[in-house]
Amino acid sequence: MIAQEYIDLWNELEIDVPRLSKMLEGASKRHEDVFLSQKNRPLNMKYFDEFWDGFQTKRIKELNVIKKEGKPLVGTFCIFVPEEMVVGAGGACYGLCSGSPASIPEAEKELPRNICPLIKSAHGFKMLKSCGYTQSATFIYGETTCEAKKKTWEILDKHHPVHIMHIPQKKDTKSLRLWREEVMDFKTHIEEVTGNKLDASSLKAGIEVINEKRKALQRLDNLRANTNIPISGRDALFVMQISFIDEPVRFTRHLNLLCDELEARVENQINVFEKDSLRLIILGTPFAAPNWKLHEIVETSGAAIINEESCIGHRYFKDNIEVNDTMSDEEIVDKMVERYAKIDCACFTPNEARIEKIKQMVKDKQADGVIYYTLSFCHTYNVESFLVKTALQDSKIPFLAIESDYSPEDSGQIKTRVEAFIESIKFSKE
Ligand code: SF4
Ligand code: SF4
Repeated sequence: MIAQEYIDLWNELEIDVPRLSKMLEGASKRHEDVFLSQKNRPLNMKYFDEFWDGFQTKRIKELNVIKKEGKPLVGTFCIFVPEEMVVGAGGACYGLCSGSPASIPEAEKELPRNICPLIKSAHGFKMLKSCGYTQSATFIYGETTCEAKKKTWEILDKHHPVHIMHIPQKKDTKSLRLWREEVMDFKTHIEEVTGNKLDASSLKAGIEVINEKRKALQRLDNLRANTNIPISGRDALFVMQISFIDEPVRFTRHLNLLCDELEARVENQINVFEKDSLRLIILGTPFAAPNWKLHEIVETSGAAIINEESCIGHRYFKDNIEVNDTMSDEEIVDKMVERYAKIDCACFTPNEARIEKIKQMVKDKQADGVIYYTLSFCHTYNVESFLVKTALQDSKIPFLAIESDYSPEDSGQIKTRVEAFIESIKFSKE
């Protein structure tokens, strides 16, 4: 039962109230099935479960308080957004709903069927007015990382303001110069929304908040790599998904509490998986909530997921921005560009650093194999999978490629392939 104050807020945001209420019932049931059914969960997951219960109510209310103070709310689908600038301006930067199949049929009235489900899901949420995050956003941050997104912005902009940042697809000096100009344009745009200049001290304040969040996520990442795995891959993914929508300081505090508990679990040799379960890393495209399909399949097939080399995962939190008190705003922006240029999205050519990183991750985390996950019609990641596969096979690392969308229809087929993959690794280990 949704409290009247939230219904009033939804009406104010022109949300389709019956539709969102129905979607939330589905999201709550799915959360129960995928997460609450697990045994031996860390006690500190309670905060994240409760957050999920209020993700379209309490959190939307908090965000709208910020907006009424004249600060920006920036919705995004990509980790290239300079979120430190938004946070430094006192605003909030969050991931938009884009992981559900429910909104896709509506999106297909404006977009082709054969494009990535993430884009269609997000576009459909806007068309249906059934996401509090989209409805609240001052503007949506768009970027030019793939063909489908790039053209969708022009259509989405007819429904909601979009600010587009041109992300170059090479990392040479010329491209980085262009990228810096784009970051400066984004800064100007934020300053226009707030009416205040983003100086060195506000930039630094935003960087510190996001650095702390990333450090806590790195801590979780390291704990998952222990021989005794203290948390399921499903729960870790859920925490990372919430990292994109929660208030960053509060989120960091709760994640550090969870990590304290996980450290104690490691010390006491508590493992949430059967001893000798296979350890797998997932590579590839992002997992926007509530896209939990692959994790659920893998972990109910007898293997543990110990890492996601994904934008909802390691790619997001692997690098921090190092700044000091003597730096000017220009120097701080240089540091930000430097950090963002380390993102190894498949939109770059060449992208060899990603392959080297994956090989190192497999070694450091003692993984038994990798599953390369591509959202349907994501051409950059799909094509790059050949290069990753070849490099990993040369290093004798077991590799399985899965391409899927958000529908549950291929779950049985994926489960059969995952089980066969697990069996083949076990067989070769024996
Ligand atoms: S995969 Fe690339 S385009 Fe997609 S969210 Fe990550 S950085 Fe952005
Ligand atoms: S997953 Fe691939 S196709 Fe989908 S939005 Fe990201 S880069 Fe584009």
